[in-house]
Amino acid sequence: MLKFTIAHLSLVLLILSFFPTDSQAKGLEIVIIKNANFRSGPGTNYKIIGNLGIGEKLKVVSTKDSWYEAVKGRRNLAVTGWVSSTIAVANNDSAYAGKGLILLNVDLTSKLGKNAVWVASVKQGDIVTILKSQPFGSKIQLDNGEIGWVRRNFIKQIGFQNYPYYLNEKSIIYSAFNFLDKLRTKNEFFKYFVIVISVVFFILPLYFIHFFTNFLCVRKALSNTLIKWLIRFLGIVVMLLVTPIFMFTPPYENFFIGVVFVVLLLFDMWLQGKRIVYLRCPRCRTMWAGMDKGSIFLGGWKSKRTVRHADGSTTGSTHSAMYYRDKRECNHCGHRWSITRVKS
Ligand SMILES: [Zn+2]
Repeated sequence: MLKFTIAHLSLVLLILSFFPTDSQAKGLEIVIIKNANFRSGPGTNYKIIGNLGIGEKLKVVSTKDSWYEAVKGRRNLAVTGWVSSTIAVANNDSAYAGKGLILLNVDLTSKLGKNAVWVASVKQGDIVTILKSQPFGSKIQLDNGEIGWVRRNFIKQIGFQNYPYYLNEKSIIYSAFNFLDKLRTKNEFFKYFVIVISVVFFILPLYFIHFFTNFLCVRKALSNTLIKWLIRFLGIVVMLLVTPIFMFTPPYENFFIGVVFVVLLLFDMWLQGKRIVYLRCPRCRTMWAGMDKGSIFLGGWKSKRTVRHADGSTTGSTHSAMYYRDKRECNHCGHRWSITRVKS
């Protein structure tokens, strides 16, 4: 029993470890803030070996004076060269904390999505303050104080970033939503396709909880009470991970859908907690915690009950009851039986 518990707890921890963490410490990275030259050495007198585009990210190998030696491209396409620190911002530079680089000349709007109103124009290379970052775009403030939204394709986080993981460009969830966002803007069909996919994103973890807790129940790995708490814990984890994305991204900007999902999740948790029952096989008498597999409604009936009081008067009340039939199978000997429950 103890072995099982530890094994499954470590499984939970293993699953939790899949959630992406901030990879700031992996190495210094720089973002190019102006179209510039990539050189063979640390100085403008060295040969030009390539071009660097605005927003391009490079990995730093070494530094000399005010120059970075950095790697452009990946694997067999990687080229090492030098770039002046005046046209690059390091990802640990606190002077650029919360700043974003505008990648193209673009309009700033009052919000993302439909009915957006033009606020201002921003130019390629502008560095702006990011007030709020979301997978589909950012709320930014210009130097003149104007505030508006810009889609994420047009802005890049620079400097030291301290966003929650799902807003960090390196996280898996961010990449997934970025991909969906690209699909969404293609045409009407993909727009609805993406909504469906997003709903699946939300539903999948719920199904995972179903299967995981069912597995634990049937294996008798954890006690009834522990499984109920595990359902609650996993439910809260799912809610914390997924609902911010659903509530604050453009396809769901009416917020309402996010609320519906939270209610759905709470209902699901409540239902699962209710479904756990102790079963005893009528043949081999083995007992275990199992899931109540669901019910078949058999119809109901009403009965009238009359109570006679000491003074001879009577009061009547009507009781109704419904019959449900559950099919069950013994985990130990395979015996199948069905029980009829009365629910009133
Ligand atoms: Zn049995």
